[in-house]
Parts: sequence; structure tokens; C-alpha cells
Amino acid sequence: MLSFDYLCSECGQDFDIVPGLMLCPQCSSVKKADEPLRGVLEVRLQGKAPSSFGSLDLLPVEREHFPDLPVGNTPLWKSSRLCEASGFRSLYLKDDGLNPTGSFKDRASMLVAAFARKHGIQEVVVASTGNAGSSMSGVGAAAGLKVKLFLPQTAPPAKMIQALQYGADVIMAEKNYDQAFALSLEYSDRYGGLNRNTAYNPLTIEGKKTVSIEMWQQLGSCPDRVYVSVGDGVILSGVYKGFRDLHQLGLIDKVPVIVGVQAEGSDAITRALETGQFDVKASKTIADSISVDVPSNGYLAVKNLKTYQGCCVTVSDDEILKAQHELSSTAGVFAEPASATAYAGFLKEKSSLDPKTVCVLLLTGNGLKDVKAASNIINIPKHPINSLDELNLNH
Ligand SMILES: *Cc1c(COP(=O)(O)O)cnc(C)c1O
Repeated sequence: MLSFDYLCSECGQDFDIVPGLMLCPQCSSVKKADEPLRGVLEVRLQGKAPSSFGSLDLLPVEREHFPDLPVGNTPLWKSSRLCEASGFRSLYLKDDGLNPTGSFKDRASMLVAAFARKHGIQEVVVASTGNAGSSMSGVGAAAGLKVKLFLPQTAPPAKMIQALQYGADVIMAEKNYDQAFALSLEYSDRYGGLNRNTAYNPLTIEGKKTVSIEMWQQLGSCPDRVYVSVGDGVILSGVYKGFRDLHQLGLIDKVPVIVGVQAEGSDAITRALETGQFDVKASKTIADSISVDVPSNGYLAVKNLKTYQGCCVTVSDDEILKAQHELSSTAGVFAEPASATAYAGFLKEKSSLDPKTVCVLLLTGNGLKDVKAASNIINIPKHPINSLDELNLNH
């Protein structure tokens, strides 16, 4: 039997897992403006692993509360053409763009939805740059929950339309994600509902750990390196959490090297890993899902990277767009820019790696979510034709 509680990632104090508790009351109170969240809570697991288990079985909510939407268990596979192009024999893709709403965020939404159902909470409130919102809307629909979504008006239209199709109540914030975040907190304080903001709700980190359990089960062992694109640093910490739990349960003997990949124009965690501090710089990148000024989970992300000797790489928007196109045209996987960022990071590092290294690229979102970004470096036909003679084909 496993048991679960919360531990503060800063002071180590433990708490029961109850609705309404989001951050460590002591540590969160010292947060300054323009600084990542303080006192982020992590789930602590205690006990022995069941003799066989699926990725949902190590979570702090019982199976019966999960909606029936098939989230997770996404394919992990090797593209022979990509392996050939890179010279790496063991380069794997974990395609989380194949989740029901098209992004990795479904893993967190699943656990939040299950938790709401367990506690009889009917409404979930979320601020999002796009994917967390469309994900919570879809998973919430499957779970029979009401979803109140705060989106910055700059969110890609597909992500908003998706949320509306799923029946969410969408509110647009005029400025940016930080404003949407603040409005959503004010809403849940005033009117109730379970807040699903990333990092703020500890279950968002915990829900994301399922991907590591799957990678380990699908590979039959631990990979050497996992490439993860990083904005707020919640996916990164979720990936760590899964491997840390497996390590604690005695199922693996080491935590793999996690490589956090950031856009040059949104590199707060990379800078903090070097300097030890978060200083504010306005973010600017084509990869909207990883464009954040102040990464909510910055402190825990840096702590994980330091403790387990992970590292960060940054890539330019140009490198992201090239990686996106190469991934599509070589492997047949159309990933959104934030997702292709993981591949761009691998390309940047690969000359310094042993080609026998077992690498996994975590692909976090489907390319159809932002066709505007994807239309950047491809040639869209300019003139419609009536006859093949208009094409200058040399056959
Ligand atoms: C949210 C998201 C990320 C980054 O996750 P963080 O937890 O913000 O670091 C990467 N890719 C996609 C497609 C996302 O939606």
C-alpha cells in the first residue's frame, strides 16, 4: 500500500493533501513581486510499489475517480529516418501530442479532475497560455466538471476554440498570462472552485510524473538523457518526480540526465541555473507555450536540475522552426514549436554526445494547435493553377 502527503519543496514541512491547500503557508508568504512561486508543494509517496502497476497507480487519487478519457500511454518509438539523420541508434520520441487534447498538459488535468471528483468539487478554474486551458476544458468535459478559463488575448486561436468546443467558459485577459493568472486566483478566492494553475496547484506537477513511469516501462530500462522543453518548469519537475519516485521505490538505480531546453528569448530558468537568481526579462519567442516572463515553478526546477546534475540549453526561434520542419518531414511528427524545441536542444548538443547514448525527446504538443507559427519557414503555393503546363516540371 502506498500513502501520500505534501512536502514543502523549500522548508520540508509536511501537510495532508486537502482541497484548498496550494502552497506552503509560511514559505509562500515571503514571495516578492516578479519572482517565481515560493513554497511549492510536492507529493511525497511512502510505501512499497505494487507488484505490477500502470502509470496512474502511483498517484495520490484512486483510479475510480479518473475520467474515462484515454490520457497518457502515448507511444514511445524510434524513427529509423531520424536515427539515421542524427547518427544516434537509440533516439526515441515520446509523442505526447497524441494525448486527447493534443498536449502533454492532459496528464496534469487528469489528476486535477480526479481530485475534484473525489472531493465533490464541481468547478475548476485555470489560467493558461493555451494548452493547459484547452486540456483542462477537454478533460473537465469528460469528467463532468465546469471549467472557468482565463486566457491572455494573445493565445493562439485554435487553443481557445478547442476550449470553447469542450464547453468551457472562457474569459480573455487583456494583457498577458501573468494577468490571467492573477485574475484566476481572484476568481477562485471569491467564488470557489478548484484552481488548476500550473505549479500553484501541486497536483499539476504530480500528474506529469506519469510520463517518466511510462518511459521506463516502455523502454524496459531508464534512458540516459531526456530532452524536455521548459517554460514554467512544471513538466521538467514532473519528469524528475516520476524518476525520483521510481528510484525511491528501488525500481531504477539512477535518475537520468534531464536536459531542459529553453527558447533564447524565454530563458529564465537557464539563467537562474547559472546565476542562482531570477531577474525579470520580458520573454519573446515564437514558441508561445514556453514563453514566460517569470517561471512559476522556477525554484523547484532549478533545485531538481542541481540535485540530479541536469542541464539547460537554449535555442533560437530559427533553430526551433528548423527543428519543427525537420521533425515533420523526417519522422512524420508535426509538433508545435514548443514541442519541437526539445529536438532543437538535442541537435544543439548532439556533437558533444556519444552516439550510443539512449536519448528520449519528449514531444509535448501537436503542430495543428498553432498553424500560424508553423507557416513560417515553409513555401505555401502562391498561384492556383488550371493546367499542369503552368508548372515548370522537367520530366
Ligand atoms: C506547457 C508546455 C510546455 C512547457 O511546460 P512548462 O511546465 O511550462 O515548463 C512545453 N511544451 C508545450 C507544448 C506545452 O504546452
